[in-house]
Amino acid sequence: MTLMFLDLDHFKDINYTLGHSVGDALLVELAKRLRLVLREEDMVSRLGGDEFIFLLYGVDAQEAPHVAQKLLDVIAEPCQIEQYDLNVTGSIGIALYPGDGVDLETLSKSADSAMYRAKHEGRHGYSFFTAEMQIRSARHLTLVNALRQAIERDQMQIYYQPQVSVRDGRIVGAEALLHWSHPVLGSVSPTEFIPSAEESGLILPIGEWVLRHAIRQAKSWMQNGLAPLVMAVNLSVVQFRHPDLPNLITRILDEEGLLPEYLELELTEGVAMHDPQKAIAVMNKLHERGVRMSIDDFGTGFSSLSHLKKFKVYKLKIDQSFVRDISSDPEDRAIVGAIINMAKSLGLQTIAEGVETVGQLTFLREQGCDELQGYYYCKPLLADQFEEFARSKV
Ligand code: C2E
Ligand code: MG
Ligand code: MG
Repeated sequence: MTLMFLDLDHFKDINYTLGHSVGDALLVELAKRLRLVLREEDMVSRLGGDEFIFLLYGVDAQEAPHVAQKLLDVIAEPCQIEQYDLNVTGSIGIALYPGDGVDLETLSKSADSAMYRAKHEGRHGYSFFTAEMQIRSARHLTLVNALRQAIERDQMQIYYQPQVSVRDGRIVGAEALLHWSHPVLGSVSPTEFIPSAEESGLILPIGEWVLRHAIRQAKSWMQNGLAPLVMAVNLSVVQFRHPDLPNLITRILDEEGLLPEYLELELTEGVAMHDPQKAIAVMNKLHERGVRMSIDDFGTGFSSLSHLKKFKVYKLKIDQSFVRDISSDPEDRAIVGAIINMAKSLGLQTIAEGVETVGQLTFLREQGCDELQGYYYCKPLLADQFEEFARSKV
């Protein structure tokens, strides 16, 4: 038996631009066509929205692609709804019984993961559930379960990496980097556990914990006589979209007694992806409250430059993938040079991430980059080590 999960591509756009009645009529028309492809013993149902699920008896891995292709073909035939000629495509995920799941829930979850792969590969296609997806979803579940108790069991620590002025070598900021060490799983990289925390919603309590502790640390360093520095905290898109974020930030700053100008939120280009107008409104709110914002990993997302000029950010963090090869790769040199020049014209500052060699530093200085962060200067440190390091630099 094979289970297929079908999701129409960009169906929302049709609802949005032509209205729900056109969307409804289109679904009815497509459902009729889908039935025609199937045999008497097959089952198709609409899960909701533009998602359909197919149960195909006696269809194995060899046959499944033919069926999937037939389904995709009938969907792609032009559709006349009212006065509109519509061209729709779909993406299909395929899961096989019993290998990819022995109950309906597991099977449809597997097919759903495979469908996402098909979307990712450019839509209008099908994709099988693979062993690799299986391993990934099992690992995801393990991480989510372990993450639930990570804070209360004291497994989370924050490291702080100095951010240094290129001009005079002064430490002007610190980036808070979350570190998780689990008794069985060992040390798990944030690039792995942050996505699981985001998907499960656990990023909200974890992110709040990071904000509170990093802000408290900045305050405590100042009280201990360190020169004031800006504490940069990475903010997930999920946190950024939470309606209470501006209030939460203000509340924590008040409770910990830190002025907002000493907090910087590192946002990724992804924050503006779904709803740029809303993102701009949130940034305006945070800006009004005096909090600084920067764009992390700049150059790796798909920032629209027309949005960038409306973002209330004061700094771009040039992604380490461009910095890595600036000593040898003329294209990366060109990209980094162009980012710095563009930032200057827009009145933004720049910081280069992942600076490891003096060669990189020299190039960045020539180009007029304002700040740097990286192993060349200092790796991320625990709070006490950071304090000691900062004192040794004055
Ligand atoms: P990021 O914000 O771009 O952080 C910089 C990463 O580069 C850190 O990795 C840091 O340890 C590493 N790094 C610093 N200097 C160098 C260098 O000279 N060379 C190289 N190769 N790497 C360097 P880390 O700690 O593994 O963090 C990875 C990512 O996880 C971060 O990238 C950030 O996106 C995310 N992250 C970390 N902490 C948090 C957090 O509290 N909340 C959220 N939402 N994301 C976090
Ligand atoms: Mg960062
Ligand atoms: Mg970065």
